Amino acid sequence: MPNTVETTSMSETIVRSVEGLRVTVAAWRRDGKTVGLVPTMGAIHVGHLSLVSEAKARCDKVIASIFVNPTQFGENEDFDAYPADEVHDVRELSDAGTDLVFCPGRDDVYPEGFSTIVSVTGVTSGLCGPFRPGHFDGVATVVAKLLLQCLPNVAVFGEKDYQQLLVIRQVARDLNIPVDIIGAPIIREADGLAMSSRNRYLSVDERALAPQLNRVLADVAAAILTKPSDCQSICRNAREELLELGFMSVDYVSVCDTDTLDLLKSYTGSARVFGAARLGTARLIDNLAIA
Ligand code: AMP
Repeated sequence: MPNTVETTSMSETIVRSVEGLRVTVAAWRRDGKTVGLVPTMGAIHVGHLSLVSEAKARCDKVIASIFVNPTQFGENEDFDAYPADEVHDVRELSDAGTDLVFCPGRDDVYPEGFSTIVSVTGVTSGLCGPFRPGHFDGVATVVAKLLLQCLPNVAVFGEKDYQQLLVIRQVARDLNIPVDIIGAPIIREADGLAMSSRNRYLSVDERALAPQLNRVLADVAAAILTKPSDCQSICRNAREELLELGFMSVDYVSVCDTDTLDLLKSYTGSARVFGAARLGTARLIDNLAIA
């Protein structure tokens, strides 16, 4: 019997069509409820659930979406391997207090004839932009659609993907989408590794090495506070250190302005350090504020 009850409540939680989503949100609106949205690609972990908590603290109703968005994966990236377990994900999100999980199918999001791309310049020019061509177009397009489908009061995104957060802020601002875009802090494992769906690609040895990315970035931040005009050489040394430690390649270690992501040679007071490096098949990213 417990199974029957669980299945029933889960199926009530999941909505797959835009029409169904709009009907539910409209009913909430008529009742005067505020709505928060947490977009995800599934493979739910504690980092995602922290975004749900953030949305619950700000809104009466919380929607989480699960959609592995094909247009934000490059040709040689992990779209086909991306972990999918809808039953587990919906249960985790529901237990955390999500009121509705929006799980559209690929054809609902990109029906035949779909031909609009939302493309953001500026904040996409550095960091992951050059290493993942088309990635932020895919992100901006799917998030613009989700925001317009749900029309939430707030939408919550993790600072784990800090560049993505700024891309989405830009989309909302430029397209006059009436939503507050909230950035939530990075949730880490006990050893400092930023939680990520992609951490499960790591072998035991790679997992042991992975927290060094966070440690090296923290050392960069500390060194820059001591020598604010030495950003470039400090970052160069950090890249070499990661390679010596055993990372296969390092896409970047960079210090950038908090709001514009302009690359900084000198630290002037509002900056973050960003890193991206490969371990086996996983590409890890991390960042932290310099303060
Ligand atoms: P994803 O499912 O990886 O696309 O991530 C969905 C949302 O969760 C994005 O806003 C991410 O920035 C956020 N997120 C992923 N990992 C973490 C983390 N460790 N801490 C906080 N937010 C996270």
